[in-house]
Amino acid sequence: MDIGSHDQLAKASEVILTNRVGVHSHIRGLGLSNEMEPRQVAQGLVGQVKARKAAGYIVKMVKEGRVTGRAVLIAGQPGTGKTALAMAIAKEMSDGAPATLMSASEIFSPEVSTAEALTQALRRSVGIRIKEETEIIEGEVVEVTIERPATTSGAKAGRLTLKTTEMETIYDLGGKMIESVIKENITAGDIITIDKATGRIAKLGRSFTRARDYDAQGAQARFIQTPDGELQKRKEVTHMVTLHDIDVINSRQQGFLALFSGDTGEIKQEVRDQINQKVSEWKEEGKADIVPGILFIDEVHMLNIECFAFLNRALEADNAPIVIMATNRGITKIRGTNELSPHGIPMDLLDRTLIIMTEPYTSAEISSILKIRCEEEDASLTESALSQLSDLAKETSLRYVMQLIMVSKVLCKRRKATEITTEDVLKSYQLFSDEKRSEDWLNQHADQYLF
Ligand code: ATP
Repeated sequence: MDIGSHDQLAKASEVILTNRVGVHSHIRGLGLSNEMEPRQVAQGLVGQVKARKAAGYIVKMVKEGRVTGRAVLIAGQPGTGKTALAMAIAKEMSDGAPATLMSASEIFSPEVSTAEALTQALRRSVGIRIKEETEIIEGEVVEVTIERPATTSGAKAGRLTLKTTEMETIYDLGGKMIESVIKENITAGDIITIDKATGRIAKLGRSFTRARDYDAQGAQARFIQTPDGELQKRKEVTHMVTLHDIDVINSRQQGFLALFSGDTGEIKQEVRDQINQKVSEWKEEGKADIVPGILFIDEVHMLNIECFAFLNRALEADNAPIVIMATNRGITKIRGTNELSPHGIPMDLLDRTLIIMTEPYTSAEISSILKIRCEEEDASLTESALSQLSDLAKETSLRYVMQLIMVSKVLCKRRKATEITTEDVLKSYQLFSDEKRSEDWLNQHADQYLF
C-alpha cells in the first residue's frame, strides 16, 4: 500500500480544522498572560477565571506533548461558557496539534456505526508532523540584468546565474520566479535565498533602497554570487496532517477527494493497522512525529453506554488524543441503561477524568459579554439598551439575549437609525419568545396541543 505521497499529505494539511464561525466567533483564545494568569476580559473571554486557568494548563500539557489519552470534563449550568471555553482551547492549538470539535449527537448517523464515527473523530485529533528536507541556495547578489521577454506572448521567463570562485550554477527561471524577483525588488547587494522545492526567491536581511521598474522589460535576470556566499543549505520543512487524513487518502473506495466532501464511509481496520505501522516506522526513521491533539465532545450526556465503553478503551491506546467533554447535566441516567450517574457519565470513565467546573456569571460579566458580542456583530446600542439586555439575560438566558441583538439590529436599521434603543430591544423580545415563556404558554394551553 502506498501511504500518501508528501504532496497529497501537504494538501490534506490545509483541511484539518474547519473554523465554525457564529455564536462563538468573538472568542480568539483563553486570554492568559505568559504566567498563565487569566485577565478578567481578554481575547473575547470574560471572567470564568478558574476554568480558563485550568484550560490553559491542559493546552500547555498538550503542546508540550507530555500527556495523551486523558479525559477532561467541563461541567456547569447552561450558558456558563463551556463550549466557549472549548472554542478558546481550539484557538490556542490552531498552529500546533489538531483540535476537533463536535457534538455527541454527530456520532449517531445512518451511514456509519458509532464505533466508526468515534474512531474517525479520535484519529482526526491526532496529528502527524511529516518532516521533509528542501535545498536552499543562499547568496549575495552582485548584479541583476533584465533582458527582453523570451516569448512572443510576453510571458516572463528567465535565467538565474549564481557564481562562486569554485563553480557557477545556472537555473532557468519560470514565470513565478521572475515574478518574485520583480515583486521583491531584488537588486545588487541583496542577500537572497532560493527554495529549490518551491522555486520561491526571498530577500533576506537588507532592506531595499532603490526603486526599479522591471516590468517594462522583464525577462532574464542574472545574479552573480560573491565568492564568500554560502552555496547550498538544507532546510527542514514540516507538514501537519491527521491520522484520519492518511486513512482517507489510503482508503481505496474513497480516496483523496473524500477529504473535501467529508463522505468517508467506513474505513477498514486493516487499512488503519497498516497506517499505524507505517507511521511508527516514519517515527523510528525520524521522518515524522506523532502529535496527539484534542477531541472535544459537547453535550456528552447524549452518548450511550456503548460509546462511553468505547471511549474508555480508546483512551488507553498509545498516542490517543485528550478527550474534552462538556455537559450541563447533573445526576442523570446514562443513556442505554437505567443507572443514574453524575453528568450521565459512567463512573469508570468519570474516575479517570479531570473536571473543570464553570460558574454562573455576575451581572457585570453578563454585560461585558453582551458588549463584546455587540462589537462582534457591529451593532451599536445605547447604555440603557445594554442594561436592559443584561437584565433580560438574567431572566431568560445569555444565548437568547444574544439572538435579540441581531433582531434589534434589523429593527433599528429598518427605522433608519444607527443606535439600538430600548424600544428595539422590547420589540424583539415581544416578537420572539424565550424558552420559559414558550413553556409557560404550552402549560397554559396544553389541551390545545397534540400529545
Ligand atoms: P450549554 O450548557 O447550554 O451548552 P454552554 O455552557 O456551552 O451552554 P456557551 O454556549 O459556551 O454555553 O455560551 C453561550 C454564549 O455565551 C455563547 O455565545 C458563548 O460564546 C458566550 N459566552 C459564554 N461564556 C462566555 C465568556 N466567559 N466570555 C465570552 N463569551 C462567553
